[in-house]
Amino acid sequence: MIRIAIDGPGGAGKSTVAKAVAKKLDILYVDTGALYRTVGLYVKSKGVDPKDAEGVGALLPEISIEVKYEGGAQHVYLNGVDHGDAIRTPEMSMYASAVSAIPSVRAFLLETQKDIARKNSVIMDGRDIGTVILPDADLKVFVTASAECRAMRRFKELTERGQSVKYEDVLAEMNQRDGQDSSRAIAPTKAAEDAVYFDNSDLDFDQTVDAIIRMVKEKTGGKL
Ligand code: C5P
Repeated sequence: MIRIAIDGPGGAGKSTVAKAVAKKLDILYVDTGALYRTVGLYVKSKGVDPKDAEGVGALLPEISIEVKYEGGAQHVYLNGVDHGDAIRTPEMSMYASAVSAIPSVRAFLLETQKDIARKNSVIMDGRDIGTVILPDADLKVFVTASAECRAMRRFKELTERGQSVKYEDVLAEMNQRDGQDSSRAIAPTKAAEDAVYFDNSDLDFDQTVDAIIRMVKEKTGGKL
């Protein structure tokens, strides 16, 4: 079993890179942001303010979240329904960020994440993987890049997905969300003390993937 933790702010390319590394190593890629996005989606459907800790907490007993891997891809089922890309909008990014600062929401999603890592070799991406979810990970990487670089990547990703967004808005939202995520009281975005800090502003996708594969090989010796 091998466990790799990838943390960092939005748009650093964590998910695309982690997905590619998972494929190369034939291990499971776990996108933990999708879980917070899914809780956000439910909160929105109920018209509850995502910053209202009590209101959101009261909804949790109504929520069942299941993570399934179909053809190697992660699907999150919310009360039996897979909402696909509906969790990927900029609005859901903000909902996810707001609900993820609520301790009861983090506690609610904790076991689901730990359980997947107990049963599988994984590369997980998020904000608190190296600090909270997988403190004993074989390798922890904190992936980041300049704000402009991250906003441009996210802008391209959203545009390619057919969403009509402006670069300036993506940059502003990203800065707001990262500020929120890294300053919150619980599980803020932060590199674990034993994480490799990796700024990939000047690297392309393939170079980032290769660098992480190299780190995995170095850290795990003969394990992979
Ligand atoms: O990674 P992604 O952008 O999909 O995450 C959406 C939001 O979920 C983040 O802005 C963050 O607030 C929250 N999140 C978190 N902890 C994680 C993963 C995501 O708080 N492990």
